[in-house]
Amino acid sequence: MPDYRLMKRPTLPVNTPLVDCSPPEVRSQRRRLRACHECDWISALPPLASGEKASCPRCAHVLVKRHRYPAQRSMALAVSALIALLVAISFPFVSFSVSGVGNRIELAQTATTLIAFHQPIVGIIVIMTIAVLPAVYLLSVIWLQFGLLSGKPLSFSRDIARSLAHLTPWMMADVFIIGALVSLIKIAGMADITLGVSFWGFCVFAILLLMTTQSIDADWMWFSLEGEPLAPEGTQTGATAASQHLTGCPTCGLINALAPGQKSRCVRCHEKLHPRLPHSLQRTWALLGAATIMYIPANVYPIMTTTSLGHSGSSTIIGGVVELMQMGSWPVAAVIFIASVIVPVGKLLALSWLCIAVQRSDRPNTISRTKLYRVTEFIGRWSMVDVFVVAILVALIRAGALMSITPGPAALAFGSVVVLTMLAAMTFDPRLIWDAPKPSSTASTHSHPGSH
Ligand SMILES: [Zn+2]
Ligand SMILES: [Zn+2]
Repeated sequence: MPDYRLMKRPTLPVNTPLVDCSPPEVRSQRRRLRACHECDWISALPPLASGEKASCPRCAHVLVKRHRYPAQRSMALAVSALIALLVAISFPFVSFSVSGVGNRIELAQTATTLIAFHQPIVGIIVIMTIAVLPAVYLLSVIWLQFGLLSGKPLSFSRDIARSLAHLTPWMMADVFIIGALVSLIKIAGMADITLGVSFWGFCVFAILLLMTTQSIDADWMWFSLEGEPLAPEGTQTGATAASQHLTGCPTCGLINALAPGQKSRCVRCHEKLHPRLPHSLQRTWALLGAATIMYIPANVYPIMTTTSLGHSGSSTIIGGVVELMQMGSWPVAAVIFIASVIVPVGKLLALSWLCIAVQRSDRPNTISRTKLYRVTEFIGRWSMVDVFVVAILVALIRAGALMSITPGPAALAFGSVVVLTMLAAMTFDPRLIWDAPKPSSTASTHSHPGSH
């Protein structure tokens, strides 16, 4: 109902038509325009059938992916994932026994044991990324889709929908599965391992969670929640949004006009708007510097200490890889080496290079630089594998002097490297790759004269 929607959004001018009644040839000029998040290019979305997607003509970034029955699909997946999570936290996760002595753990103990060993921050990171944030996400999806299916969005729907995209990169159930497999292979030769119901429940949960995040059609969801306000008059396709004093909303995709020198918010979803992320390069450099510094203790200090038959030995990240190679577990050694060395170091180098490259006066290889940025953003969370391995082994291997594992200070240092490099990738604005650099100030294209 148009009247109902108008009452819900006091920030929109009352005379803004929500449904465009103008003739189609005029309508195509201003309706369903999107500015690419990665290169700022404005293009008009074509009508999409289910299963189709629309990509940016300039950088090939996927703008919209259409699903059949989007609300029902997300709802069904989210409910199933939540049930699988309940199973995963209610039953024994995994148990081990060596010479008749053993231990059985539940999923939550991977975090609580770390807290008991004075690693509260690592423990909180583990429980947040594998259970708490996914649960919040799934409940939010159910809340939103229930409202959409019943024809009347529930309260706080707009704020909840806005937070969904921010939560997604911090959910790491799939990475935890790899961590669990690595841990089990690591101790398989030394002890008997039994997988509990909860282990399989968690695997199902991780897959369903991934499918739920993939099923979210943000474009359709925002259209259903808040309608589709028109793009500002005179918006041109085939040019960048910044060159027309416009910007695409990072959350709902709507094109908004920017008043120069003023803070503005999206008229549809109320997300904060910037022509480019503020101080993107400075912030990225600062986070990269902090991550580089933290990477030193992460490698110098032991990540865990193993006590076996009264003899105890500490191992660093690299030491763990060498041990695995000596045991003959080449594939696992490769997984840990890639996740803990190649990915974080590669990410630090790639982001540093991108920061330097956007400040150069030429801009060749924009496509390959954008691809490099996408890879960097995608792989960052997989570094968390080693932190999860520590969490699982410390909780599971507790048989006193016979065999036990305690966490080392490198766990916190390495966890912070992962978080800092993820934040660095988020603060880097890929649209800078496409901007023609200014000779004087290259940090932001629309810097306010009074600020620096
Ligand atoms: Zn693009
Ligand atoms: Zn928006």
